[in-house]
Amino acid sequence: MGGPSAHKRTLRRRVVKRLRKRGWSYETPNDGIRHRIYDILASYHAWWDWGHYLMILTGTDFCGNWAEPEAPTWWYKLEAPKRMFKTRYPIHPLSTFKVIKNYDAFMALTEDLNEDKMYEWQAFNVSQDRELQVGHMYWGGRFFGMTRWEVRLLVKYLRMVRRHDWYGLRTWLYAQGLHATVYKKKPFSCGAAPEPGSGGYDHWLCQLKKRHKGEHKCGNYVWGELDGVKYSYNVAPEDENVA
Ligand SMILES: [Zn+2]
Repeated sequence: MGGPSAHKRTLRRRVVKRLRKRGWSYETPNDGIRHRIYDILASYHAWWDWGHYLMILTGTDFCGNWAEPEAPTWWYKLEAPKRMFKTRYPIHPLSTFKVIKNYDAFMALTEDLNEDKMYEWQAFNVSQDRELQVGHMYWGGRFFGMTRWEVRLLVKYLRMVRRHDWYGLRTWLYAQGLHATVYKKKPFSCGAAPEPGSGGYDHWLCQLKKRHKGEHKCGNYVWGELDGVKYSYNVAPEDENVA
């Protein structure tokens, strides 16, 4: 150990430690920019493994993993109605909606509610499969239509969803990062993949130098050809690979 790279590493560790003391690692909301910066500095990936960093920048925090970007859910409920001019008929313009956009706040508010009280709440949500859920569909219930005021709230929600996804760019960037992370293509390296039927996957790309001799290697996996027979094996101890 020693030299400029070791110095850089300890400097980075010191910065990470200081940020953790300041609470950047458990910042709320947990996918704010501070939490992302902290995670980028605290995770050690090779410079060419930029996919991991791109996923941290564009993903949505899901229990400590940077999963696909997902727009937050809005929960809403009708509060006391307003009265229509003259007839006093009850109406529900947007100002009579109680809208909650934060998961923790919603859970705290509805903690001890019985089923009847819970039924007053409806939600707008985009599921992991990019399906729009409205009304009680968030809880697996049926959809019985919307008032025109709810439609106005839905329009606002859909605008937020598009903005959250940076008008399509964010999901695309995340997909590039995920792809690069899986393939881990190291620049200026051999890059050969095991041939089909040889027992290896085509996303193993050899990380050794160009025009190297002997077996190809990617992470713990090694593959090659001996007397015309293709083979591949894992150099890591067996017990690390038990599923
Ligand atoms: Zn190779």
